[in-house]
Amino acid sequence: MKFHIKTFGCQMNMNDSEAIKGILKLKGFTPVEDITEADIIIVNTCAVRKKAEDKFYGKLGEINRVKKRKKNLVVGVCGCVAEKEKEKLLENNVVDFVFGTRSIPRIDQIIDEALKGKRFVYMEDHIEELDGSFPRIRDSKHHAWVTIIYGCNKFCSYCIVPYTRGREKSRPMPDILKEVSSLASQGYIEITFLGQNVDSYGKDLKDGSSLAKLLSETEKIEGIERLWFLTSYPKDFSDELIEVIARSNKIARSIHLPVQSGSNKILKLMNRGYTKEFFVELIQKIRKAIPDVSISTDIIVGFPGESEEDFYETIELVENLRFERVNLAVYSPREGTYAAKHFIDEIAQSEKSRRLQKLLELQKRINRDINKEYLNKEVEVIVENTLEKTPGFLYGRTINNKIVIFEGSRELIGQKVHIKICRTTAGPLYGEITKQEVKV
Ligand code: SF4
Repeated sequence: MKFHIKTFGCQMNMNDSEAIKGILKLKGFTPVEDITEADIIIVNTCAVRKKAEDKFYGKLGEINRVKKRKKNLVVGVCGCVAEKEKEKLLENNVVDFVFGTRSIPRIDQIIDEALKGKRFVYMEDHIEELDGSFPRIRDSKHHAWVTIIYGCNKFCSYCIVPYTRGREKSRPMPDILKEVSSLASQGYIEITFLGQNVDSYGKDLKDGSSLAKLLSETEKIEGIERLWFLTSYPKDFSDELIEVIARSNKIARSIHLPVQSGSNKILKLMNRGYTKEFFVELIQKIRKAIPDVSISTDIIVGFPGESEEDFYETIELVENLRFERVNLAVYSPREGTYAAKHFIDEIAQSEKSRRLQKLLELQKRINRDINKEYLNKEVEVIVENTLEKTPGFLYGRTINNKIVIFEGSRELIGQKVHIKICRTTAGPLYGEITKQEVKV
């Protein structure tokens, strides 16, 4: 039988889909790209923003057209929309089964039931079975996502994640190290540790484990060249972690620290648990200890109660802190969250768009200025992939998360190369290869 998985949303979902693919392939199912060829379709969904949820429902419409022609097609839904909607999804005739983010280890049994013609919801927690020995089909041959902590305990007022992904549950450190060692022996050189709040890693284990310790141990594994981690929560970003990054030459000089707003009033309404002053001090502390670090952030505009003055404070923060990247989002209430229940989404869409545009323009100017400093410099990148729309070109990433585009052959994917930067933009850097590291 053939299966197709469509994944929406974050890297956690991608990593979950790799596990689903791994177990299905082991059970003899064949993955296919074209949904019209599939006997089983699984949609791994995202509910973090309305736009992502709308995309999922659009996909269901497309699948429905296939199902009308192919009556035996079995369709399953997992991910955050599945967790949020549960039985409600079965009201849609195209969906046959719904399963939880923590039920993935049982996907083979779930599919067996669905193939018998049953329509059901399965939400049991078997996440502990998703250990380092679990089979996964990974898209990349040199870079691997490794989830280290599931769920989130923070309850930011706008966020659906604690309701869909449950409470924090860390994987034991020996299990993660075993998985990374096995990846290194298969030729993986880059690892990204994933979690909704990776800085909370280990707290629930109560055995002294922490992200700082995990990174220190992982960088000792032979073959591992670069380590990333996503996503951080400012309040949990420890001094120990800063020290470990500062003295390492393998941990990426790239930290994603979502600030969300530059106004203390809005941060309080968002239940973020820190003030603007705390955040600024943290960034200063990190930059002092790790001078070549690049810091990126997330910002939500148009949160209920955000006045022009509050928005201006965000603008000021972005001007002053000069992030390397800002992921901007317009606030949309997520059903079930505190903000959706208690705050009125009173800011007009046109005003939200105006604020978004203003921040986009500001960040573009900052990016352009930061990137200019790279002109004529030589950087080292690990080559990620070919550039889909420009044959003969590749892109790679520096240790501080700069995307660099250059001419080269696909044999270089997964290798380290040195590039001289010839052109800069507000986005990627462009350059030419000066040196290639030969693998031994
Ligand atoms: S830290 Fe806040 S925004 Fe991030 S996943 Fe947890 S609740 Fe959501």
